[in-house]
Amino acid sequence: MPKTFSIAIDGPAGAGKSTIAKRLAQDLGYYYVDTGAIYRTVAYFFDLWQINSKDIDAVSRYIDELTVSIEYDEEGNQHMIMNSLDVTGDIRTQDISQKASLVSALPVVRELLLDMQRDVARRHNVVMDGRDIGTVVLPRADVKIYLTAAPEVRAKRRCEELLEKGQKANFETVLKEILQRDKQDMGRSIAPLKKASDAVEVDTSEMNIDEVIQEIKRIVGEKVSL
Ligand code: C5P
Repeated sequence: MPKTFSIAIDGPAGAGKSTIAKRLAQDLGYYYVDTGAIYRTVAYFFDLWQINSKDIDAVSRYIDELTVSIEYDEEGNQHMIMNSLDVTGDIRTQDISQKASLVSALPVVRELLLDMQRDVARRHNVVMDGRDIGTVVLPRADVKIYLTAAPEVRAKRRCEELLEKGQKANFETVLKEILQRDKQDMGRSIAPLKKASDAVEVDTSEMNIDEVIQEIKRIVGEKVSL
């Protein structure tokens, strides 16, 4: 199989990972893999069954009933398929964000999803974003970026995103949830969010999207021919 290229973009919620990764993938003609959506799909499944992620026994029992897969439409948009149901539009709520953060701390869940993520990168050139891509999923990624921004900036961006989708957004609540999610994602014992030792950190607090894209392309251009 020919060598595929992979660009890993990790960082906390609201740092701009998905916007940047999607644009970069489009420009490079790579697949964009939003791994957060995979954990959101798992959280959505357990939510439907009203299973609390703290109930490890129930999670372990029901997880065999879950099939998660990724599909791409003609425009290259990622769709999340849960047991043959397209749940792409259902997983983007603040409630599912929090539940995804809880469920993603469980080893049984992470083990289930690891091969699936690696398999996409084995078959395609990818820009993959998440929390543990550079550290665990693709430790040999060609380029690793760690995208950050001040919590207040991230909360403001998340509010704008929610409002655009017609959902309610209160700055203080969103900020609190972001800080709680950072704490959970950074503090868990399995695959915690952290900068890989060979990742380049980009703080986007004072940058607009075009500036971030330009900076990331400069970093990528040093390793991969654009
Ligand atoms: O990126 P997004 O906000 O959609 O991710 C939702 C949650 O999924 C994160 O807060 C994190 O707990 C989990 N996640 C993870 N590992 C990844 C991607 C997301 O644990 N690679």
